Amino acid sequence: MASTKPAVVTLDDFARDSIPAPLSEIHRRLRKGGHDAFLVGGCIRDYLLGLIPKDFDTATDAKPEKIRKLLPRAFIIGRRFRLVHARRGETTYEIATYRKEPPSIKSPKRGRGISPENTYGNQREDAFRRDFTINALYLDLRRKEVIDYVGGLRDLQDRVIRSIGPPDDRFQEDPVRMLRAARFAAKLNFSLDPEVKTAIHTNKHLLDHVSRPRMKDELTKLFLTGHGVASYQAMVDLDLFASVFPQHKSADSMIKQAMIESDERYASGHKLSAAYLFAVMLWHFYKERLHSLELEHKTNMNVGELRQHACYDVLQMTRQYVALNREVQQFILSVFALQNRLEKKSNVRRTLSHPLIRAAVHLLDLRAKVGEVDPSVVTWWKQRQPARTADRSRKRKSNRDYRRSRYDKRRLRVEKG
Ligand code: ATP
Ligand code: MG
Repeated sequence: MASTKPAVVTLDDFARDSIPAPLSEIHRRLRKGGHDAFLVGGCIRDYLLGLIPKDFDTATDAKPEKIRKLLPRAFIIGRRFRLVHARRGETTYEIATYRKEPPSIKSPKRGRGISPENTYGNQREDAFRRDFTINALYLDLRRKEVIDYVGGLRDLQDRVIRSIGPPDDRFQEDPVRMLRAARFAAKLNFSLDPEVKTAIHTNKHLLDHVSRPRMKDELTKLFLTGHGVASYQAMVDLDLFASVFPQHKSADSMIKQAMIESDERYASGHKLSAAYLFAVMLWHFYKERLHSLELEHKTNMNVGELRQHACYDVLQMTRQYVALNREVQQFILSVFALQNRLEKKSNVRRTLSHPLIRAAVHLLDLRAKVGEVDPSVVTWWKQRQPARTADRSRKRKSNRDYRRSRYDKRRLRVEKG
């Protein structure tokens, strides 16, 4: 670890009002208690790039118990590594004590969790345990100073994702960092340092060791936060997709189309569904599985059972890598099962009353866009499917308002009369 002094850069034009007021108050209280208080990580990176930070993380030398004492409405979370959450209105702010990489743990199994224990450190050590240089900047709100131990400011300017320390080691310590590299390259439109690229190529098989909940989290961030198209491209270019969705190549155009739509929905403020995302990713896998089951001549099963069997197989295989909860699995089962009925326009009334009819027609539409289904079938269902839940409740509400206004008018008449 280099022992040179960090670069300190004053942000003369730092707009204090770009930081939520409760956060300044949190930092004031920590300093009043005799401690450091710095914003750190993604929020500084995004602020310096002119983006709106998603959340604001604070780093301090105060230990969790002390932080909790200094801050009202704060509580300690986490078992392995203890953090403090301070709730202010609708927002929760995270405050973490400086920590360092615990020594001598270099097994890829580390990817399954985070540090095995609380290993506190100083600010320099805290900077060096972070993943990429652009994510290791500290901002002192009072002095408007950015502290940079790792050349993050230069890399922000050069728009490059560079690992802190040898990327081979860092990816072996925690393979999730490879997914994070792809995500930041996509989200920020940055290039990957060639060493990072090479190390991803060497270590991509370690993604098998990533815990299933972390994998689900990362995939959701990659594909459902407005840069799905770029994330998918980055994942394909880096060959990071195959260990999670081995059949993705045959689904390429469908996934791309889904990502275009996902980014559009994100930009227009619509809710995005992780269940639908996984359904899209798994559709071709399911079709291939169904085909091979059919070839295996499972004559003791009828078509419906065969389809269900194929879907269970796909879910079971995927569950080895990604945490899919029961709700997501049920969603995928239903939406896949509905595809056949939709294609055949069969059981119309029952199909239309299915709670997931809209999602199923959506998938059918996607399949039509890539030439798998006749588009006229999609139009046929779209003309018949019920309105969106939001529209339905709006309609219900307006009906209620209408009834209420009639009631009020009647009451007025009665009162007058
Ligand atoms: P965003 O919130 O926009 O997704 P972020 O950089 O803030 O990006 P977080 O997951 O919120 O990402 O993590 C906050 C910070 O914690 C990061 O900026 C980085 O410094 C550090 N960090 C997160 N995950 C890791 C990791 N796997 N290895 C090392 N450092 C990490
Ligand atoms: Mg963040």
